[in-house]
Amino acid sequence: MKRIIWVIAGLFLLGAILSGCLREEQHDPQQISDQGYTAFIHVNVVPMTSESIIKDQTVLIEGDRIMAVGSGRSVIIPDKATIIDGEGAYLMPGLADMHMHTRQDWESEAWPVSPLILFLANGVTTIRDFGPSGEVLTYALEWREQIQAGTRVGPTIYASGKILFVSPLGDPQGLVRMNHDLGFDFLKLYSYLSPEDAGEALTTAMELEMYSAGHVPYAVGLENILTAGMDEIAHIEELLPEFVEIDRDKQLSPEEWLAYFIGSAMQQFDISAGFNETDFNHQNGDILARIIEQLRSAGAPVCTTMVVDDVIQIKLFQPQVFLERQENRYSPEGYLDLFRLGEEKHQRQFRGIEDLAAFKYGIDRWILAGLHQAGIPLLLATDSGTGGMGIVPGFSIHDELRILVENGFSPYEAISAGTVNAAKVIETMVGEGDFGTIEVGQRADLILLKNNPLEDVANIKDLHGVMAAGRWYSWEELAQMIALE
Ligand SMILES: [Zn+2]
Repeated sequence: MKRIIWVIAGLFLLGAILSGCLREEQHDPQQISDQGYTAFIHVNVVPMTSESIIKDQTVLIEGDRIMAVGSGRSVIIPDKATIIDGEGAYLMPGLADMHMHTRQDWESEAWPVSPLILFLANGVTTIRDFGPSGEVLTYALEWREQIQAGTRVGPTIYASGKILFVSPLGDPQGLVRMNHDLGFDFLKLYSYLSPEDAGEALTTAMELEMYSAGHVPYAVGLENILTAGMDEIAHIEELLPEFVEIDRDKQLSPEEWLAYFIGSAMQQFDISAGFNETDFNHQNGDILARIIEQLRSAGAPVCTTMVVDDVIQIKLFQPQVFLERQENRYSPEGYLDLFRLGEEKHQRQFRGIEDLAAFKYGIDRWILAGLHQAGIPLLLATDSGTGGMGIVPGFSIHDELRILVENGFSPYEAISAGTVNAAKVIETMVGEGDFGTIEVGQRADLILLKNNPLEDVANIKDLHGVMAAGRWYSWEELAQMIALE
C-alpha cells in the first residue's frame, strides 16, 4: 500500500514538473516557433544509410528533429507546416568539419563575415573545435548554447578546451580535470608532450571517460600514444614522422623539434627528385602496413585535413592564384597582408625548401589512399577557422571532398567521412551521434541541392538552402548573410 501511495505521489510530481515545463515553453516565443513543422516535399533523399537515392519523398521536420520520411501518401503534413517544394532537388545530411578551430574574435571586424555563417552557407552544420583561441576559455560553449536557443546563428558545436601543448605541463591531471569540469567534449593533445605528461593526461581522461584526440607527440610516437589511450589522430600528416628516422629521446623545444624533424626528413629522402609513389611505396610500404595495423587494433579514426597541403601548394607555387581565390575575400585582411609580404605561416616554414612541401603532399596523399583502402575510419576535416593559414571556413569543406575523390574515394565515401563517420565518432565522444543520415529521430541538419551529390561532390556547392538543427535558411537568405560590400 505504501508503495502505491509513493507511485501516485511520484506521478503527481512528474505531472507538475511536466506541465511547469510546458507552461514555461509557451511563454517563450522563440521556443514556440521552434516547435513548428517544416515539410520538404517531392525531394530525392540521399539518406547516407546506404549508397542510394530515394525518389520523390516527403521529409517532415518538427523542432530540430526529423519526424517522418516517406512517400507523399504515407506522410501526413500538419496544416500549419511550412512547405518547401523540392521537386527535382536532392536532400542530403549536413556536413561536419571534424577538425577546425574557433576564435573568439570571429565576430569582430577582423573577419568580413562570421565563420559561423560561412559554415552554414557551405552546408556545414556541425563543427568540432580542436582548440579555442580567446580571452575566455569557454566562449565556444556559450555560443553552442546560444545557437541551440536560437539567439545566435551557426552550426552545432563540439569542442575541446585548453590544448595540452608542451611539456612540462606541471599538473596534467589538473588540466584534464579542468577541461572536463568546464564541460568540454574532448581533450586535445599537441606535438610537444613528454611520454610522462601524455601518459598521465590520457590516464586521467580515461578515468573521466573523456575522449581524446590530437597530434602524435614527437617524443612519444604513434604506437605509444595509442597504447597510452589516445582515441583519435588529428591529421593524416601526423603519421609522417613514422617514416623518418628520429631519436625520440631528445629533449627539444617546439622550434627545435620541428627543425630536427624537417632536417632528418631532408637527409633521408631525395626531395629534389620529387615524390615517386612507386619508389616510396617500395621503400616504405611495410611502415604504412604497420601503421594501419596499429590504427586498426586501437580503433582510432584519423582526420583528413588534406586541404592544408593543397592550399600550401597554391600559396608557394601560385601566389597570385591564391590571392585571387574567391573565398579569400572572407579571410582576415591582416592575414592577406602578411601573405603579400611573404611572411605568412607556410611561406616562412617552407622558404628555400619549397620542394619539401610538394614531396610532403605526395606522401600524405599516399597515406590517405592507403588508410582508405584498408578501411580505417576517416573524418572529413579542414583545420579551418584560425584565420592564419588561408583555409577559409566552410568553403574549405568542398576542397577537402574534392581531394578525397582525387585520391580514390567515391563521392559516397567522401561524403560519408563528413556524415556517418563523423556521427559515429561524436557518439563515442558524447554518447549521442544523432546526425549524418536522413532518418527519423535524427537532428534536422540538411542540405537541399540542385544536383545529385553522389554523382559529383562539387554539386554540394550549388544549394537551394540549408537546415541547421531544424532552422531553414534559403540560399537567398544565406547569400545575403555572406554578402560583402
Ligand atoms: Zn588544428
